[in-house]
Amino acid sequence: MKFGAMLGDITRSLFRKPFTEKYPFEKHAAPDRLRGQLTYHPEKCTGCGLCNKDCPSDAIELITIDKKAKRFVLRYDMARCTFCAQCVQNCRFECLGMSHDQWELAALTREPFTVYYGKDEDVQTIVERFAHPKTDEPAQ
Ligand code: SF4
Ligand code: SF4
Repeated sequence: MKFGAMLGDITRSLFRKPFTEKYPFEKHAAPDRLRGQLTYHPEKCTGCGLCNKDCPSDAIELITIDKKAKRFVLRYDMARCTFCAQCVQNCRFECLGMSHDQWELAALTREPFTVYYGKDEDVQTIVERFAHPKTDEPAQ
């Protein structure tokens, strides 16, 4: 590019508004079809396990507390999720979805990326179980 043309571009850009957005101070609504954080409706879940069976990233685990009573907890690891929506497609009972407005998922540690979905008391049971795992090994 010749210097004269470049100078013209520079001068014009001095009087134009910047194209960049003032994120995070100004935000635009995300497109409706954006694939953000996974959503789960435990009341519809049958515990069939098709969702975690076909997840290519091993990002979800369905934990059964009581299948007869339909007590399930879905453990979701966002740090592993590729947002492919395979699990959503697989679920025949429309328990799963991808929220279009939950996409600001950055964090400084991995902990916030593991989310437990389910009824509050069931999530509590599972979180406590992971915090205090039982071992079958005899004490030495
Ligand atoms: S969106 Fe894809 S990667 Fe994420 S949990 Fe579902 S199947 Fe797994
Ligand atoms: S595929 Fe749907 S119904 Fe089956 S375990 Fe997963 S969320 Fe539940």
